[in-house]
Amino acid sequence: MTIKVKKKMVASSRYGLKCPNKMNPEYITIHNTANDAAAENEINYMITNTSSTSFHFAVDDKEVVQGIPLDRNAWHSGDGTNGTGNRKSIAIEICYSESGGDRYKAAEKLAIKFVAQLLKERGWGVDRVRKHQDWNGKYCPHRILSEGRWNSFKASIEKELKALGGKTSVSKLKKTSSATKPKKKASKKVYKLPSGIFKVKTPMMKGDAVRRIQQALAAVYYYPNKGAKNNGVDGYYGPKTANAVKRFQLMHGLVADGIYGPKTKAKLEALLM
Ligand SMILES: [Zn+2]
Repeated sequence: MTIKVKKKMVASSRYGLKCPNKMNPEYITIHNTANDAAAENEINYMITNTSSTSFHFAVDDKEVVQGIPLDRNAWHSGDGTNGTGNRKSIAIEICYSESGGDRYKAAEKLAIKFVAQLLKERGWGVDRVRKHQDWNGKYCPHRILSEGRWNSFKASIEKELKALGGKTSVSKLKKTSSATKPKKKASKKVYKLPSGIFKVKTPMMKGDAVRRIQQALAAVYYYPNKGAKNNGVDGYYGPKTANAVKRFQLMHGLVADGIYGPKTKAKLEALLM
């Protein structure tokens, strides 16, 4: 059964802001909205607001709504003006991911079917499906990642695709150059949070352990530096990360000292389980 798409297309007078470039897509990028709004509301807001952020489809538990034409690029991957994610991929936002629950599960189910349909239409395999995180490291789709379900999500798409009689072997895809190759991120490692106490100032801590703390903070919306590259996930435990830790501590009844110690670790881990 073909899924019908409700079209709420952006006005062509707004192409310059929302989708300035012609596009011949090669990938599909999966996002979670990190919000609790329905698909039509997400699209209505996106096509009328003053931000350049844009995406082709929003999917909720009931329908698929489109806002950007598929032959134009959208700004959703955070990988820059000429990034492959932004310039070569179809963006799909899965709604209701902030709170999750049955509504979200149903939205994800519909998204799986819809992605399979898009792949089938194009003669593509599931290897064309990317997560936002692949393009710029952002922890998105946050709910699929935090529940450790990216591989099973893709497997479900493949299963649907098979049922539609689509291509299930790897489709021919030009080798991406190293410049455009999606970064491999060990998303499962995110929650093996480091133990020990990270002091705020001297010596400034840096490295993968800090990066994991930052990713975990971002996953629960205490971004080290919201809006910055990778939301400030850079592996440096500087003042902004300490502030994010402080805000987190404040909201969770801990001593707000900005030091990532055992109690903060326990609280953060409990939230991410
Ligand atoms: Zn995203």
